[in-house]
Amino acid sequence: MPLYEFKCRGCSERLEKLWKNFNPPDSIECTECGSEDTFRIVSRVAFKRDVVSKLDSLDPRYDKMVDNAIGNTQSADPYKYISKSIPLSAADTD
Ligand SMILES: [Zn+2]
Repeated sequence: MPLYEFKCRGCSERLEKLWKNFNPPDSIECTECGSEDTFRIVSRVAFKRDVVSKLDSLDPRYDKMVDNAIGNTQSADPYKYISKSIPLSAADTD
């Protein structure tokens, strides 16, 4: 839900109003002096973000860190470990 800010021309009070959609009113009634002579401040709009948009805004370096960490695990490249093993017939069984 977007949060809109208004300012009262009468008393200069800043007002915040949660609005249920993205079409806020041009003015609201001032809670301080009751004046309807308020105007919307468009610079600050805050709204609750969902988890996906939070993930999208993560630092791209984080992805690289995760890739590097996974790349160093055994499950990332099992053949790397298999190639180091030797056939049983060649193993020193003494
Ligand atoms: Zn006012």
